[in-house]
Amino acid sequence: MRDLATLGQRIRHFRTGRSLTLEQLGSEVNIAGSQLSLIENGRREPRLSLLTAISTALGVQLADLLEDAPPNERARLEIELDRMQRSPIYGSLGLPAIRPSRTMSDDALTALVGLHHELARRASEAIATPEEARRANTELRQRMRARDNHLPEIEKLAEDTVRSVGHQVGALTHRSVSRMAQQLGFELVHVGDLPHSARSVTDLENGRIYLPPASIPGGHGLRSMALQAMAHRLLGHTEPTSYADFLQQRLEINYFAAACLMPLTQSVDFLRTAKSERNIAVEDFRDAFGVTHEAAALRFTNLATAHLDMTLHFLRVGGEGGVYKAYENDGLRLPVDVTGSTEGQLVCRHWSSRMAFTRTNRTTEFYQYTDTPEGTFFESTQTGTSGSDEFSITIGVPFSDAKWFRGRETPHREASRCPDENCCRRPSNELATRWSGKAWSSAKLHAHILSPLPSGTFPGVDDQELYAFLQAHAD
Ligand SMILES: [Zn+2]
Repeated sequence: MRDLATLGQRIRHFRTGRSLTLEQLGSEVNIAGSQLSLIENGRREPRLSLLTAISTALGVQLADLLEDAPPNERARLEIELDRMQRSPIYGSLGLPAIRPSRTMSDDALTALVGLHHELARRASEAIATPEEARRANTELRQRMRARDNHLPEIEKLAEDTVRSVGHQVGALTHRSVSRMAQQLGFELVHVGDLPHSARSVTDLENGRIYLPPASIPGGHGLRSMALQAMAHRLLGHTEPTSYADFLQQRLEINYFAAACLMPLTQSVDFLRTAKSERNIAVEDFRDAFGVTHEAAALRFTNLATAHLDMTLHFLRVGGEGGVYKAYENDGLRLPVDVTGSTEGQLVCRHWSSRMAFTRTNRTTEFYQYTDTPEGTFFESTQTGTSGSDEFSITIGVPFSDAKWFRGRETPHREASRCPDENCCRRPSNELATRWSGKAWSSAKLHAHILSPLPSGTFPGVDDQELYAFLQAHAD
């Protein structure tokens, strides 16, 4: 949809640049000056024929009027003020909306817009309680489920960007990533003193993206981090105005990075070939593109429904059995709390995600059929460790799609009745009688599952630390 405020500002910009009054331009295109004023204020949408007439009268291309950017800084501020004054937060204050007249100074306008931004920031800071964060996270997962976890716009952007540096097959090299950055006007700089809690820092003025030291040459993490930093720019992100906005941006930059590392066409070709050979395996997909198992499994969820015609589920589960990350569109019943949030909930002991921890040989994927009240699923799980914590990554599909996967002849089969607590939560009567009231255990304080999300303000990085860092490196 066209942004009427921007369009109006662009018309005004070119009109005043030619020293025409509203009446003068209006009479050239056969409308009243008052009508033109409404258009310039973004209150009325002009027909295309009128826009064409206006562009001719002003001696500019139609595309110049339709461009999606404010014509100058003053116009940007005016559009911003208009937008913020129409927000529910401002509306709830019952204060009048200010029209930025020509006599209002740039300073006054800048101050007003700045105050609006601070108002919005404080309002969303106040609601970003852990519970709100969980709700926002849950809503985002529901929205992505409705889209089959697939975002065609970002797929295209990633593929175009990767092609523009001549990348064709296999793993995306560091060199290609650097060239992508260069095309955007950035240099990748590895430094050892990034601010705490910052994964990367972008210096827009000097065109630099600061990343942690390249301690693991060729590591997937650094390419991914650099791509995520570029994604903010390519996707036109501005500072998030709510927690939901923050999560949405994070999802988009992760998606973009994954779509560069495993581009759409190459990935779908690879996976379709594997499907035709009835030999789909996340470990092969991972190795072909030089990424982590988790990245490959998540990427598989982006493509499986839209391009391979199958529904599926993804789980990242910790050694204690709690969900770190989950996605499903195949009907598997994820464990959820009262808010509908799944992060931190325990999955059934019988699911592949947990059964895989019980086996001794963990170098390859573990395969299992799991019977649940919602049907039988084929699951493939890879375990790993990060720091001292173990985790498992699972991709599962309905029984009817098992035939496309490596491991389908596995003898492992488990029955799960969860969320019925008699499935695996309640001790047997025998054990309960034996031990009830005769023991006491001291629980570990459970690390809060959303603790990696920033608390307080969502950008999460302390400004003082950030600016000191930028200054030290600006030289
Ligand atoms: Zn169970």
